[in-house]
Amino acid sequence: MTRYLVTAALPYANGPIHLGHLAGCYLPADVYVRWLKARGEEVLLICGTDEHGVAIELRARKEGCTPTELVDRYYTQIKKSFDDFGIEFSHFSRTSRPIHHETATDFFRSLYEKGVFEERVTEQFYDEEAGQFLADRYLIGVCPKCSFDQAYGDQCERCGSSLSPDELIKPRSALSGATPVLRSTRNWFLPMDKLAEGSVFRTYAERVANWRSHVRGQFNSWINQGLMARSMTRDLNWGIPVPLKGAEGKVLYVWFDAPIGYISATREYFRLQGGVDSEEAWKTWWQSPDTQLVHFIGKDNIVFHTIIFPMILAEQGSYVLPAQVPANEFLNLEGEKISTSRNHAIWLHEYLVDLPGRQDELRYVLTAIAPESKDSDFTWLDYQARVNNELVAILGNFVNRVMVLTHKFCNGRVPDPATGHALSVDLHPALESCWLEVDNAREELYALMGEFRLREAQVAMMRLARAGNKFLAETEPWKRVKEDPQTAAGILYVGLQICAHLAVACEPFLPATSQKIRGQLGWNTLSAEFIREWWIDCASTSDCRDRHNPHLLGSEQELGAAVHLFTPISNEQIQPLRDRLVRFSTAQGESADAQAVQSKNQNNTEMEYEKFVPVKPEVAYPDFEKLDLRVAQIRSAERVEGADKLLKLDIGLGFEQRVVVSGIAQYFEPEGLVGQKVVLLANLAPRKIRGQMSQGMILLAENSDGRLVFARPDADAEPGAVIR
Ligand SMILES: [Zn+2]
Repeated sequence: MTRYLVTAALPYANGPIHLGHLAGCYLPADVYVRWLKARGEEVLLICGTDEHGVAIELRARKEGCTPTELVDRYYTQIKKSFDDFGIEFSHFSRTSRPIHHETATDFFRSLYEKGVFEERVTEQFYDEEAGQFLADRYLIGVCPKCSFDQAYGDQCERCGSSLSPDELIKPRSALSGATPVLRSTRNWFLPMDKLAEGSVFRTYAERVANWRSHVRGQFNSWINQGLMARSMTRDLNWGIPVPLKGAEGKVLYVWFDAPIGYISATREYFRLQGGVDSEEAWKTWWQSPDTQLVHFIGKDNIVFHTIIFPMILAEQGSYVLPAQVPANEFLNLEGEKISTSRNHAIWLHEYLVDLPGRQDELRYVLTAIAPESKDSDFTWLDYQARVNNELVAILGNFVNRVMVLTHKFCNGRVPDPATGHALSVDLHPALESCWLEVDNAREELYALMGEFRLREAQVAMMRLARAGNKFLAETEPWKRVKEDPQTAAGILYVGLQICAHLAVACEPFLPATSQKIRGQLGWNTLSAEFIREWWIDCASTSDCRDRHNPHLLGSEQELGAAVHLFTPISNEQIQPLRDRLVRFSTAQGESADAQAVQSKNQNNTEMEYEKFVPVKPEVAYPDFEKLDLRVAQIRSAERVEGADKLLKLDIGLGFEQRVVVSGIAQYFEPEGLVGQKVVLLANLAPRKIRGQMSQGMILLAENSDGRLVFARPDADAEPGAVIR
């Protein structure tokens, strides 16, 4: 039987968890694992804090404490915020524990004994003032790829490139600011070019072809550029000592030891479980071909999880290599990159205090905007809109209407199924299309989950609630109840069954909401076996649709009290949270760093100019006046069949509605566009595109990476208003 060994990137214990981390890997890992568990699969979700590396030492220096004090504090805080938020790790460990030191040391020693490493004496940057070598983040300079002037010796946090110290332009010491000198030192290198030719690694590499395009892209670009040997040891004090004679004052490279943390955490998990084979059980998970190893990570960790760690595992022998690495891109915040140094971030532990009891709301929004294939943007207004317009208005409203009406018309009990089967003929089309929609949504949901497309899967889950609302709107039980209480009861019987489907379907995404729905349905008979059956039914193709059992709730079952699943978020609740972010960036502009920022901008001016398209020749004002630009609102959006770049948009202008066909399908999900305000060039001559008249053009901006974004009017702007 397949077992799933799922890992989520080890968070650095040098700061708290923010929404970018959560959306990057912890939430998707949790959603995916909850789904596997619901299906009855054997699964472990492994994580823990990464407590080594220069980032920790630097932060401790900045905070005036020892690295140990720092990691103790952040381990506790990170663990607590995950617990409070409801991420269900099977085990959450730390890389500072003896079991990890032992595991990582054994790994290094065994690779050394196999002759895998190349011992090299190289010139490394050395800070004479501070009296130490400048490994990784101790070295700062200008990124050769994106010109960011705060890039580290191992990585640029702006563009995500992995770097080596000698690639940095104008290197300087993070400790003293001094220009470093070169000194020779001995280190142990992983000859990645050679190891990429190994048969185990090459067999593994074939899998990557089926992974997300940006993961595959990074992987291929590394391989095609030609891999170089990379040092697996560092001249540092903080970390796991290199277990070799003559290697005093050196530790293992943090990216050598951190992924091994997944293994030591698994060992620790089984040790804590106890039992006769507690020292061996972890091997079943790491060394059996039945294991599917899945790494959830952010895009900045792709090279380590798709190349370096698999190489180490392959050379060690007998270990499984990753089956999937569903890395996410970055989540931005209010249109800017999240920055922990500028405090442009929403911290999870603060969210839980600011909006208590709203874990599911955050889960929903972060999955709805999950950066699965491109960077995405979290804004408080979008959060508010999704909670109010989707969770409250669609899911919450549907369940609540069914519950309230059943209490009112049917004494708070599930009506007799006979009423559901005996709906009058005029209701049959509505009933048929409702069940068809439910079946389609279930099949889609299952397929999308299996492909790690959690964002679309959540949309499919919400289709169940939409189908329910549509059915109620078409059948109007509140109107029928006086003349035909039997039919009204039959309608509510169907509505309750859809609530039951929702309770099962939403559990991976919205676990607390699932509990609430079950409570209201008085659904005590819900067993793990039943849930497993439900998901297996989902997987069946339309050919065997007869197998689907739409009737989940027993008749005469007594319902719990009707309670709202969600409450709307008011402007008063959101405004302080928006202000807080604005205030941080304003404060930043006035701080001591302002000068540095300014001089940096000046240095960059020439380079910046090259990035932009030159301004067009000037036009007279009357020419501008000929253009009719309007605020418009997208009412609905759908893909154009047979054209993967086109979306057909239904646009509201207040006084009229129009259809606009726009070539933006690669950049936006149709579901996410509904309600968005855009700028429309309203008097552009209509054009036929793929047989469809397109009346006008939506204005878009092209970012430097080629991505299209909306030129968006202010949220207050009213559809139809003239822009001039
Ligand atoms: Zn860069």
